[in-house]
Amino acid sequence: MRRSEILNWLRETDAGRLEELWRLADRTRQQYVGGEVHLRGLIELSNHCVRLCGYCGLRAGNTALQRYRMSDDEVLDCARRAVEYGYGTVVLQSGEDPLLTRERMSGLIRRIKAETPMAVTLSLGERADDELAEWRRAGADRYLLRFETSNRELFARIHPPRADQISLLPQAGEGSVFRTAAKRNNRLAILETLRDLGYEVGSGAMIGIPGQTYDDLADDIELFGRLDLDMVGVGPYLRHPKTPLADRRNWPEAPEGEQVPVDETMTCKVVALTRLACPRANIPATTALATLNTANGRELGLARGANVVMPNVTPKKYRILYEIYPDKACIAETGRECRRCLIERIEALGRRLGSGRGDSPNYQQRSAADGAGRGGGPTAAPTREMRGKKC
Ligand code: SAH
Repeated sequence: MRRSEILNWLRETDAGRLEELWRLADRTRQQYVGGEVHLRGLIELSNHCVRLCGYCGLRAGNTALQRYRMSDDEVLDCARRAVEYGYGTVVLQSGEDPLLTRERMSGLIRRIKAETPMAVTLSLGERADDELAEWRRAGADRYLLRFETSNRELFARIHPPRADQISLLPQAGEGSVFRTAAKRNNRLAILETLRDLGYEVGSGAMIGIPGQTYDDLADDIELFGRLDLDMVGVGPYLRHPKTPLADRRNWPEAPEGEQVPVDETMTCKVVALTRLACPRANIPATTALATLNTANGRELGLARGANVVMPNVTPKKYRILYEIYPDKACIAETGRECRRCLIERIEALGRRLGSGRGDSPNYQQRSAADGAGRGGGPTAAPTREMRGKKC
């Protein structure tokens, strides 16, 4: 899709014409990833964080937040429950927590892989290459790291680097789409490492960050395609009062008429355009979208391009403390209730529950083209020529 078309859709206000976009995205989803909706059991294993992200309630500067870190046995209990619920994947997510060390995480991943048949997805923030390599060796299958925004200045403003990272920012000019883009956002260099290690690679962006323009958002969607992502998560930016980004005086919005709004339609447009940019990727209907519209946000996402949902299996006493933004959807439900509610919603849409691990067809196609097959470890990485192709 041409950039001008992406921009036109992002600015489209006519409900009738938008129906066309929803139909196109839904048809593309059906054609490339089918009618199954895959459920991923989300375990929020720690809310400790050393970072100072301007948008996130887990930021180190939020001293009002009570911190927790689950024990390995507690995580294993949650993983067993995810198996009981029939989930094919468990997602381990946390703040950037240095006490989730290389050894500790690798032991935990090995235990989950030994005791369950599930795929393991990690979402632990920006971690060192040797940690990512060790966790892959331990059996981790996928890694999620959103680049949040492709606008370099905006990213720098909302995501200050760790003190020890400033001199390590990667240099551009090595020819790969990752390195060139990394000049703007160091998370992109990590995405390349993940790819080289043979992970299924997931990224994404927030929608409606103060200062984010329609042009920025069109850049994000184009970048999803160029990065050849296996998973893409997009959700609305939601204001957390205990963060700097919540103070409008500190964070001026974009010029008149250019600021991306935070609303359900804009989020659905980005989900739909992401499906068109990355037809074979796994795309979740996010909790952030369900938070904007508790009545049927998830259904709208699933009907407009998404094929994945991530029910929370974190124990309730911890879940309420994993407050990246306030009033998160499904916060008060038990894992079992959450599962039942989602299954009903999926079946009401005429879709069916996914079976098995729900690997990304994009990853499978890349691995097959590479001749390495699933689980090939670092050798499963695509060739340089593969990069830069559409998902
Ligand atoms: N520490 C990990 C996991 C963070 S939570 C990491 O940084 O990758 C996962 C995602 O939640 C983030 O990537 C971000 O896109 C989203 N998020 C965080 N704060 C948010 C907010 N206030 N509104 C909407 N999404 C938010």
